[in-house]
Parts: sequence; structure tokens; C-alpha cells
Amino acid sequence: MQAIRQEVGSDFHLQAKISAVDYNNVLPWEKPGNSLQDSIQVCQWLERDGVDAIHVSRGSTFPHPLLPAGPFPFQIATSTYDTMISSAQWRTLLNYFLFRSPLLRPFFKCIWNRLERPWQSPITGDRIEAASLSKFFQEQISATELQDLLARYQGTVIEDARAIKQRINIPVLCTGGFQQASLIRQALQEGFCDGVTLARTLVANKDLAHQFAAGKDIPERPCTYCNQCLGSYLEYPLGCYDLSRYYKRSTEGANPADRAKATTEAHEAMIQEAMQVYTPPPQPFSPVQSQ
Ligand code: SF4
Repeated sequence: MQAIRQEVGSDFHLQAKISAVDYNNVLPWEKPGNSLQDSIQVCQWLERDGVDAIHVSRGSTFPHPLLPAGPFPFQIATSTYDTMISSAQWRTLLNYFLFRSPLLRPFFKCIWNRLERPWQSPITGDRIEAASLSKFFQEQISATELQDLLARYQGTVIEDARAIKQRINIPVLCTGGFQQASLIRQALQEGFCDGVTLARTLVANKDLAHQFAAGKDIPERPCTYCNQCLGSYLEYPLGCYDLSRYYKRSTEGANPADRAKATTEAHEAMIQEAMQVYTPPPQPFSPVQSQ
């Protein structure tokens, strides 16, 4: 850190992201890794060495079963993880075979789900009103189900962030599925952190900050924490790939052809939304032509 600071100068924002608790023992044969106390010590050293802010996360791997919290995206990872093979070490290959094989997948699932979710969030956002969600979204996920998802996956690291914040004097940012203005406000007001960071929830709603500014507590089509985007970005443009967020069930007809049409429309809407951020739109790339 001292060397980086020397290189970038004193007016360059230098931030460190840290796994507050490693939970490395998600693999039963590994040791747990850094504890919260270890990380507090590291953050104190980082502050001493001139870091401007700390960004608190969780888990010694990415993805880790506890962050980004949510299910492992088996279906999509099966088709995209092969990209990693060219730089593979034996563990990458092992992972790949575990996803791919229907026989071995239960073993992977067992490992993925073996750690208990260690938090009971000390704060919750406002109650979700059905009227605040899009009609089509509710055809897939009701307000009650969404409330449950938020309780499981939103703000999961704020206790750790607060423990670190209490022991250092530089700003502390916190990650963890935030997408509800009332919960973020509470986290800031009650001193859990100085700011929150958003990834998946911005992928799902790239105008999220504008929606908050307009007075919404939650977007009308929130992120469902399905983690399909994590599996996709290895090969596809970064975007939300949860088809259910685009599906309009009440418009589908009774026969299979109508259902296929509704699925195609949802798929096209999903791709169109993912591609909106690319200006100008991406062009096909051929290494042969470019030579
Ligand atoms: S694919 Fe979409 S809904 Fe699923 S986690 Fe990513 S952003 Fe959220």
C-alpha cells in the first residue's frame, strides 16, 4: 500500500476491498482463513499505510456461497465455465466436471450449501407493498416472496462492516445485495457503514439511484438474487439474465406455440436490455478480418 501510494500520489483515491471473514472452510478440508478480528487488524494497518477507504465484503473465493449471496447458477455456468479451462489449474477443471456431471453435481451442491447462513440482519427495510411491484414481476414472484428474498440476501455483511468501522477512522463501504432505499438509509443512519456498493442490483436496474431519487423504495422489477449474471459474464455481455424478470405470463396463450412466443419475447427483451449499455452497439469480431 505504501508503494502504491507513493506511485499514485496523495490526491488519488486509494481504496482497499477486504473479505471481513474468509469462511474458507466452505471446502471441508480447508482452514477457516481470516476471522473478523484478523481483518480489523489488517484494516488498521491499511489505514496506517494511507488507504482512503475500506470496502467490506465476505468470503475467500469469488463467487463464494455466502457472497454474492444466492444460489449457484448451475444451468448457465455449465455452458460458460469452459472459458476458464484455457487458464485452468486442477481446481478449475475439478469445478467444471462437478457442474457438468449430473452424477457429481449433488456433491458440489452439498459443499456449496454446507455453511450455515451466519447472519440475522439487525435491520430491515420497509414492508414491500404489492402495488410497488410490476404486475408482470408479481406473476413470477409475489411481494411476500420478495420480502423473504430481501431478508435472506440484502445487507448480509453490515454487522462486519460496523465492527470494522468502529475500529478505524476512514470511511467504510459495504457490499451485499442492497436494493431498498429504506434499508440503505437505516444502514447509514445507524452507523453500520458510510456508503453501500451495488453490483447485481445495478445490473438489474441500472437507473436504481434515479429511482431512489424519485422516491421509490424498491424498483418495480427488483433483482431476484438468482446469480445468473455471475454465470453469464464469463462469455456474454454483462447484464441481467433472469428470464423471469422479462416474462409476461398473463400474455401467454393456452397452446404451446403461444407459450413459445411468450418465451421468445421475454428472451428478446432480456437481450435488448442487456445490450442497452453498449454505445455504439458491439460488432461481431473476427480475428481473421482484423489482421
Ligand atoms: S441475473 Fe438479474 S436478477 Fe439475477 S442476480 Fe443477476 S441482476 Fe439479479
